[in-house]
Amino acid sequence: MADLQNEFAWSWSRHRTFYECPRRTYWRYYGSWGGWESDASKDSALAYRLTQLKSLAMLVGESFHNVIGERLRMRSEAPSPVPIQLIRDEVERRLLKRVRESRNRDWERFGQPKQYAILFEDYYGIGVSAAQQDAALKQIGLCADTFGRSSYARRSFAIPRKRLRIIDPPGFDDAKMVVDGVTVFAKPDLVVEDEQGMLHIVDWKTGRPSKANIAQLAVYGLYVSEKLGAPIENVVAHLVYLVTGEADRYANLREGVGEAQRMIATYAADVRDRLTDIPNNVAGDIEQFPMTTNTVLCRRCNFREICGRLDDAPTPPPDDED
Ligand code: SF4
Repeated sequence: MADLQNEFAWSWSRHRTFYECPRRTYWRYYGSWGGWESDASKDSALAYRLTQLKSLAMLVGESFHNVIGERLRMRSEAPSPVPIQLIRDEVERRLLKRVRESRNRDWERFGQPKQYAILFEDYYGIGVSAAQQDAALKQIGLCADTFGRSSYARRSFAIPRKRLRIIDPPGFDDAKMVVDGVTVFAKPDLVVEDEQGMLHIVDWKTGRPSKANIAQLAVYGLYVSEKLGAPIENVVAHLVYLVTGEADRYANLREGVGEAQRMIATYAADVRDRLTDIPNNVAGDIEQFPMTTNTVLCRRCNFREICGRLDDAPTPPPDDED
């Protein structure tokens, strides 16, 4: 097998991570690299394990997105009702399996932190209580019901299959594009083409509604534009909130392109400035990635252990943290 390359890249979450705490970028993208190897250093193996931590809220979101993507990919040519019960049962099954794995510390027993779930709540706290688990199951039920009623979901299962142009790009390479010489990752949940040839990005949200960032949506717009060869003016983004049933529509993605390009260029310059080997994307000096002084951020950070910031009580990260 060819050696894996640690490719320099930008994504919305990489950007947010770096400007919140450069040390977090170090552990997530550099210090943990190769931590899966049997001869990895202690720090690198620990950092790699910590990159795998997810909160219960993140697992709910991830399971939902995966199941919806799979059901849409295996959709038949013929229109069908939204398989609400199937989706709900499958998301619940996956969540409970992951909760069990984490509680039993299967990742430790089998020495495979990537294969078995590690819940932030188990690793740093007192675990997931019965009430928290019930609340997560209730949230899944609510999201599944809202999804089933949503006109976006109903149309996705009813329109000709070929009009589902992109469904949750499954692999790293599928989610990649290049913007001004920088590799950029973007993963829209679904892209649907309407009868007039307009392309609609649909992003399912399992958390509470929040104000969208137009630059972030513009990155999705650029991705769709590049992958499907359409002008960005023909791309519309929709954020569909599965807890409340609300949906927001953003038609003018061009508006955010300039800011998105500036963000990507600034990030690339700021991070590369700290690398010790730019062509090979190596960060050989941890001190170039200082720890944040805002210790509130450490409460919900996966790297509390390796940074020694364990004094404040942990707060499980929200579903959109990665
Ligand atoms: S624990 Fe705090 S200092 Fe360490 S990486 Fe996380 S946010 Fe940064």
